[in-house]
Amino acid sequence: MKPISLIERIIRLLYPAKCMVCETILKEESTAFICESCKKDLKRYGRGFFRAAELPYIDGLFAAFNYIDGIETAIHAFKFKNQPRLSETIGGLLSEELSKYGVLPGFDYIVPVPMHPRKKRQRGYNQSELIARQLGEFLNMEVRTDILKKTRYTRPQSKLKRNDRLHNLEGAFSVSPDVFVEGKRILLVDDVLTTGTTINTCAKILKDKGVNMIYGIVIAIAEK
Ligand SMILES: [Zn+2]
Repeated sequence: MKPISLIERIIRLLYPAKCMVCETILKEESTAFICESCKKDLKRYGRGFFRAAELPYIDGLFAAFNYIDGIETAIHAFKFKNQPRLSETIGGLLSEELSKYGVLPGFDYIVPVPMHPRKKRQRGYNQSELIARQLGEFLNMEVRTDILKKTRYTRPQSKLKRNDRLHNLEGAFSVSPDVFVEGKRILLVDDVLTTGTTINTCAKILKDKGVNMIYGIVIAIAEK
């Protein structure tokens, strides 16, 4: 991670940086918004890339953490408490876990799971896109937000029953007509995986357009 900037130093004189999990005030030079003890306690998923039978369109899935305790608190703050600046810390943690599992297959693009424009305006940012940008820097790969679009506003998957989740996303995503993705290899980024319907739906429509290989990566996976 980059050293903290002068502006960040000045901000921190007024608002000391806190751990995104336990809110302990961090040392002035800390580059990540997490204390050592909370970082150590995160529940690492520890599987590397794997194939999940329920995600037939995903060739390999990587989850850094179990969606529980500290990372759940952090992701909640990142998504719902207007803290886009946590993307560097969370993206850094994800990259660190990823780097434990050796060499990745080559990807042409990193593509975040898109958010409907109305929702993005409400929130101010798409958290998956911010994480994708961190990964893009870490892996030195191009991030494309013009390939996949969310064209229909849907209810949050997390608030639905399992059966409703499948139907909720029908026709909700589309691939832009003017992009060429045939034969490409894509790393799809989402924040949290629950049933995987979202990431699998996105992968399906990309493969329908001729994408050759799709891996999925999420910060955390929720046990069903
Ligand atoms: Zn802490």
